[in-house]
Amino acid sequence: MIIELEENAPTEAKNNLHIRLQHMGFTVQSAGHTRLALVKGVDSFVRPADFQHLPHVSKVHSLKIRYKLASRACRNEDTIIDIKGVKIGGAELFVCGGPCSIESEQQLEACAVTIKTAGAQALRGGAFKPRTSPYEFQGMGEQGLKLLQQCGERHGLITISEVMDPSQVELVAHYIDILQVGSRNMQNFHLLKELGKMGKPVLLKRGFSATYQDLLMAAEYILSEGNPHVMLCERGIRTFETHTRNTLDLNAVPVLKELSHLPVIIDPSHGTGLRSLVTPMARAAVAAGAHGIIIETHPEPDRSISDAQQTLSFDAFRQLMHEVSVLHHAMRQEI
Ligand code: PEP
Ligand code: MN
Repeated sequence: MIIELEENAPTEAKNNLHIRLQHMGFTVQSAGHTRLALVKGVDSFVRPADFQHLPHVSKVHSLKIRYKLASRACRNEDTIIDIKGVKIGGAELFVCGGPCSIESEQQLEACAVTIKTAGAQALRGGAFKPRTSPYEFQGMGEQGLKLLQQCGERHGLITISEVMDPSQVELVAHYIDILQVGSRNMQNFHLLKELGKMGKPVLLKRGFSATYQDLLMAAEYILSEGNPHVMLCERGIRTFETHTRNTLDLNAVPVLKELSHLPVIIDPSHGTGLRSLVTPMARAAVAAGAHGIIIETHPEPDRSISDAQQTLSFDAFRQLMHEVSVLHHAMRQEI
């Protein structure tokens, strides 16, 4: 249920109504300057008419779609997430680079220098790795998080790292700026709820067999717990094609931007699984209107402990940055 206030309603009126509705027992979320959303199953037991008479209310409507807070119907303006001055979801192109797994201080340091000088804003690296085999490297854990935090601070880069389990949320949030939910965990609802209770931004990766609606419902779990800082990430889906690791679904960019106000990030590294395809698909993502891209890079890509085949060399990363910057600049001039 969305309650719209009169265009010129004072902020105080909105705040008062918010409190009043909470006292009536509803879970209320702000949804833009003049909108309040009542969430958590409300549509099934109350009617719009019940709220029409409240002060400064102009319109009340129930939402037929299942995702509410993630929808454009609930909030029309794009969500822009500001992390230490880096704005994600607006006119600037957001680029995150770094290794699949954090392996050592030297490896991270070399990545940080390269991506910072190339103009990227964020450093990624997994410390808790979701590996298909239990016999493969599982990540450096807390030690890796510490290295990522220190490296980010040294170079003025914000940081992204994956959290796999509700019990890790506090730890990862202590060190890292953006908590990544991996594809395999997109519907780990306990994890999503825990992330919703924490204030830090979340990069939510689409499950490789998830529909857009599944992804938006997963985002809804985080939003409905009170955390509005969610980014949606397309990272390739499973199809019948076996040449590439996954099929990067670039339809996701315009579709998600149409359905939702949340920033849309593309991961062409996991989306293709092949080094030679990463830069072309990064360009395509930017051309399609993605707010950002996330790219795996390593000082010695072939020696990367995980995802070596899709990992770019530093030269290739610099070239990618050059190409996407030119393209993004041209698009801002022309469109
Ligand atoms: C990763 O970013 O290294 C990763 C494991 O991503 P995904 O969950 O998309 O496979
Ligand atoms: Mn990876």
